[in-house]
Amino acid sequence: MKRPVVELSECVVCEICTDLCPDIFSMNDAGFVQVNKLNEYPQDCLDEAIKNCPADCIVIEEED
Ligand code: SF4
Repeated sequence: MKRPVVELSECVVCEICTDLCPDIFSMNDAGFVQVNKLNEYPQDCLDEAIKNCPADCIVIEEED
């Protein structure tokens, strides 16, 4: 299954992804973006977040 991953070393914590896709991305207590565990990630929203991420740090990984 495909799963988004945020490269935290690149992330500038602009919160665009959490605004665009609150179901997928959220802020954790440490102040970092985290990817929520979902059975499926809505592709439209994910594409939008990837397109708008100013740091280009959202990548898609293939997971078994
Ligand atoms: S849009 Fe990109 S840079 Fe901004 S918080 Fe999300 S992952 Fe980080």
